[in-house]
Amino acid sequence: MFPARRRGRDLDAAERGLTMGRMTASPGRRVLLAAPRGYCAGVDRAVIAVEKALEQYGAPIYVRHEIVHNKYVVQTLEKKGAVFVERTEEVPPGNIVMFSAHGVAPVVHEEARQGRLATIDATCPLVTKVHKEAVRYAKEDYDILLIGHEGHEEVIGTSGEAPDHIQLVDGPEDVAKVEVRDPSKVVWLSQTTLSVDETMETVDALKTKFPGLVSPPSDDICYATQNRQLAVKQMGAEAELVIVVGSRNSSNSKRLVEVAKLAGSREAYLVDFADEIDEAWLEGVTTVGVTSGASVPEVLVEQVLEWLSERGYGDVEIVKAAEESITFSLPKELRRDLREEATTLVAERGGTGPSAE
Ligand code: SF4
Repeated sequence: MFPARRRGRDLDAAERGLTMGRMTASPGRRVLLAAPRGYCAGVDRAVIAVEKALEQYGAPIYVRHEIVHNKYVVQTLEKKGAVFVERTEEVPPGNIVMFSAHGVAPVVHEEARQGRLATIDATCPLVTKVHKEAVRYAKEDYDILLIGHEGHEEVIGTSGEAPDHIQLVDGPEDVAKVEVRDPSKVVWLSQTTLSVDETMETVDALKTKFPGLVSPPSDDICYATQNRQLAVKQMGAEAELVIVVGSRNSSNSKRLVEVAKLAGSREAYLVDFADEIDEAWLEGVTTVGVTSGASVPEVLVEQVLEWLSERGYGDVEIVKAAEESITFSLPKELRRDLREEATTLVAERGGTGPSAE
């Protein structure tokens, strides 16, 4: 049995809304709904930061890379006036550029300075923590083994803090090729959105190779990633099918699919929207697990529940793995009055920057 499953009157107001709203329940068919799921504190902060910046300075607000890895969120912000770019140089001088929740390397801050851009840094504070660890260990001349996925923005940003000291380890199979200058001075750090179990496998392999390997002072895999994986583990044994709402470029969402399968679910799929679900997936399935990645707004989960309800899966039970109450304050640039600074910059450059309204 699940440790904290709640039904009916025990549900939170929002959860109750989801459950009571279901229309169709066929006997024996049910949905297990993970809690926590969806937005984490870092994503919430980043999305609100773009909205506040648009309100305060007017469109366009340029955002370097997707502010968070979710198609719906990006499309919604684009409609409001956010312009997503891949490179800093694409932003015309005199404008505001926001850095995404995944963080950027110091060289990107420098590019923005060179380009006369006002910046708002929406890097998640838990990613910033890893950057600071990298800087500290590099100063102490450690070889830093960064466990993470090659090419992921967060990994690129963290590596950029100390490129001469950091090497990427993309899973246990990478360990054989790792070489360090001094095996007694090696530390591992990690991307915040990895699979907890797979990361520990990599760490164990690294420890076998480098017995003196130092661990980070606290977990780099963030609370939100860990909690969402824990909830999926709890439902995976009972749900024959797990549907993870999230985008294909979302690392933490993809990990949820893997964790669901490892936990015993026969099938697990990642979908951006309810209309991507294939009816054939439901064949012979009595219990469907539903969860969402840390960058997914709840409305998309509601649509999936509605879709399932219409097919007889109207009975929803919550699988609660943890309580979350963490929130982060907005980026400091937004907290102080940036309006004057940005307006002055635009005036100086004669640029096409944010409105002085
Ligand atoms: S998943 Fe974790 S590290 Fe990433 S934005 Fe959310 S809280 Fe921050």
